[in-house]
Amino acid sequence: MAQIKTIPAISETRDITVKTAIEKTTLFHGRYAPGVVIGAYMVDLALELLPISGEKLNAIAESRVCLADAIQIMTGCTLGNKYLHIKDHGRYALCIYGRDSKRGIRVSIDLNKIDSQNTPVLKQFFEGSRSYASIPRPEQQAMVTQEFLTVKRDIFKAESVLVNLPTKPPLYALCQCNSCGEYFRPTPTLPQCLCQTEPSLYS
Ligand SMILES: [Zn+2]
Repeated sequence: MAQIKTIPAISETRDITVKTAIEKTTLFHGRYAPGVVIGAYMVDLALELLPISGEKLNAIAESRVCLADAIQIMTGCTLGNKYLHIKDHGRYALCIYGRDSKRGIRVSIDLNKIDSQNTPVLKQFFEGSRSYASIPRPEQQAMVTQEFLTVKRDIFKAESVLVNLPTKPPLYALCQCNSCGEYFRPTPTLPQCLCQTEPSLYS
């Protein structure tokens, strides 16, 4: 059962480390994005509250956005090594946990903690209600970050959780496709070759 954790104020040392991580993640992400900044602070909080030490890590990103890039840079759990699980539910949340113990910390955004008077653009960012009609996108992106940096961890929710996922997804045997002749890995959800299931992928 998830248990809500008290969120400590960020120390000066951690804040400096997060800023370095933001620079690295921005390079990796390819462009400046407020989600990189917010994601880096979320990963940092999860790492600080993690109830385990010395154990290798796994991670879950609950949407396919900047969060995943902050996780990859700051934890070494990547899509390539399969220690980062993407559960694309569109939730602005992530979880970092022990590879063996499965004990971890899930960090999400608590919209109730976002003050629409003091941080209106930040609120719109998480509600998906921004409009670029009056203020152009780059300026709004900068405003989101600016407002976020005045609150940082204050808008997060942290929970202690036990994760119900295998360390790595099972690796199914390779098969040769009767149609295109390429080898592929059938899974229970995608038993056929991509040339059969998505023939319109390339033209
Ligand atoms: Zn095929």
